[in-house]
Amino acid sequence: MLADSDRIFTNIYGMKDRSLAGAQRRGHWDRTGDLLKLGRDRIIDEVKASGLRGRGGAGFPTGLKWSFMPRECDGRPAYLVVNADESEPGTCKDREIMRHDPHSLVEGSLIAGLAMGAQTGYIYIRGEFVREREALQIAIDEARDAGFIGPNACGSGWDFDLHMTHGAGAYICGEETALLESLEGKKGMPRMKPPFPAAAGLWGCPTTVNNVETIAVVPTILRRGANWFTSFGREDNSGTKLFAFSGHVNHPCVVEDAMSTPLRELIDRHCGGVRGGWDNLKAVIPGGASVPLIPKSLCDEALMDFSWLSDHKSGLGTAAVIVMDKSTDVIKAIWRLSAFFKHESCGQCTPCREGTGWMMRVMDRLVRGTAGVEEIDMLLDVSYQVEGHTICALGDAAAWPIQGLIRHFRDEIEDRIRSRQAANRQPAAIRRRAAVSAGYGLTAHAADPRVEVHANSGVEGS
Ligand code: SF4
Repeated sequence: MLADSDRIFTNIYGMKDRSLAGAQRRGHWDRTGDLLKLGRDRIIDEVKASGLRGRGGAGFPTGLKWSFMPRECDGRPAYLVVNADESEPGTCKDREIMRHDPHSLVEGSLIAGLAMGAQTGYIYIRGEFVREREALQIAIDEARDAGFIGPNACGSGWDFDLHMTHGAGAYICGEETALLESLEGKKGMPRMKPPFPAAAGLWGCPTTVNNVETIAVVPTILRRGANWFTSFGREDNSGTKLFAFSGHVNHPCVVEDAMSTPLRELIDRHCGGVRGGWDNLKAVIPGGASVPLIPKSLCDEALMDFSWLSDHKSGLGTAAVIVMDKSTDVIKAIWRLSAFFKHESCGQCTPCREGTGWMMRVMDRLVRGTAGVEEIDMLLDVSYQVEGHTICALGDAAAWPIQGLIRHFRDEIEDRIRSRQAANRQPAAIRRRAAVSAGYGLTAHAADPRVEVHANSGVEGS
């Protein structure tokens, strides 16, 4: 269990003072000027040594990403952009940082800015996060007034300023290049890569886009050292992590714990267990809406890190854990995600624009049980045609939950289809028996299995 003294986020529940004075009492802005004086190379080396991987979903090594920024200035400014557009269903961890511990993000932005040669940072925050935006703006203003950011930040000789802008509700603006388009005042549509943002990002200038949590943990890593950070979690999965639990647990929560902690341990310790007990668990989506679910049999032994989950055909994603107990209509749950991704597709590439709608419509028939069994493999095939064939990862995000559903719950899908078909046939059989016993012939209509009935098909809400 993670000791309180090892927590990076010391006010995640908002029980303490989030102002600059309160943040300083909790250790933020401590020796920040000295950290900046380490210089660009040493900061990047330390972040690389810590093994920090991006906390926004992709898990790309942070120090390596920073090292892609050009060493020599060619006349263009460089930018740090913080992705605070947290919009994925189930994901609600960055929100807690921004509203309760905003100085961790402001301080981290300053350090990251120096490490990548950026003197200007932008925080792009989700439009719906109004209170979070207010809290962050107050923190930015406090830091600027105290001389912690702005000209000669923290007395380091480095000038750095931080600005905030907000989105208007489109999920796709959380994709880094769509975010940059939106930041430039254009429609939020992902760009083709290459060029990658480190070469040509915001306004065509070198840019690195990082997640809120990724940036916010950096000051503590530098203060306590890479070895401290790597003492948590397994190799390639180091550090502490915010986990967000929702769904059928007794106490949904956001909590910081060590990477690679067993899923069951996290749920039992922090959430009071699964509703109805562990044996009432059906499945878990371990990393936000875009990763494949895992059934209880895998949850029994799951470790919450990048490696274990990808080895088992899922992903850590944002570590937003959606717990589903046995009362869940898992087909309907995944249909709901399909509807979300279909709605949020920006529509600029064909496999995503057409495929997400197509997959959602087949999922709708699977929920009702009105699809044919052969459509399951057809849906799977379409999901593979969408995956990896789109401009951005939204296509993958739409395909993966469906693939996970079919991988682990094919029997349940087939059972629903067959029970629906049986229900449709039943009146005809009943009528046939009645007709035979009465000595009447059958009408074509009564014998037709395609005639639908609305007897109990076992489909909730169909
Ligand atoms: Fe837009 Fe979807 Fe293509 Fe991404 S994958 S660019 S969201 S159409």
